[in-house]
Amino acid sequence: MKQEILGLQFDNVSMEEALAIGEGFLDGDKAAVVVTPNAEIGYDAAKDAEFCALLNRADLILPDGAGVVLAAKLRKTPLKGKVAGIDFARNMLSVFARRGTKLYLLGSKPGVAEQAAEKMRELAPGLVICGTADGYFKDEASVVERINAAGAEALFVCLGAPKQEKFMFAHQKEMPSVRLMAGLGGSLDGFAGNVKRAPDWMIKANLEWFYRLCKEPSRIGRMMRLPKYLIKATRNRQ
Ligand code: UDP
Repeated sequence: MKQEILGLQFDNVSMEEALAIGEGFLDGDKAAVVVTPNAEIGYDAAKDAEFCALLNRADLILPDGAGVVLAAKLRKTPLKGKVAGIDFARNMLSVFARRGTKLYLLGSKPGVAEQAAEKMRELAPGLVICGTADGYFKDEASVVERINAAGAEALFVCLGAPKQEKFMFAHQKEMPSVRLMAGLGGSLDGFAGNVKRAPDWMIKANLEWFYRLCKEPSRIGRMMRLPKYLIKATRNRQ
């Protein structure tokens, strides 16, 4: 079931349901696209109809973050809960490992995807990572060629928004072996350990944003989109 917030059609799913849908994509006949908008991206999408339409083309739109969940609650159309992109990705690793699905990692600065791959293999023993590439390339076609040559079946695209969404939709039909691709922002940095996540109690208390702000005060500009998103979401309630 879909839950609309400021034009974005979120899928109202629990983590378990998201994983089942993700696994279903692996048995499909096309490269399904998963996007993981948080409140900041939701705010950008509310102001940019083209970006919003692009996100809505995705096969699965996960509510990444407490901000989106709170906005839904304030609109009195609550979502089942947060399904953070990085948590979805981590859980999917076990699915890939169990099925022998070949995963390709694209994005972040040179070296990060390799570090992330190492951590992912520890998290999901048996996981097959068939290739990695950093996210600072000039020629998209040669990246697509590398993904295809590796026989990737799943692809994590971590280029930040909206670059990753544009990449996925531009090349969706040019990757015949890919069945699932997910736009996951800075998740490879997270797996590599370059960006530490907040302590568990803070995540549970929906305070991860505060932890990130303390670590990187320069994020204040982009974080101001969160309260703006909440106000806009509450005002634009049908
Ligand atoms: N990135 C990239 N190529 C680019 C721009 C960014 O690979 O041309 C990477 C960057 O290194 C970082 C991620 O994309 O790992 C963006 O992370 P951020 O947390 O900003 O993602 P967002 O919050 O936009 O989803």
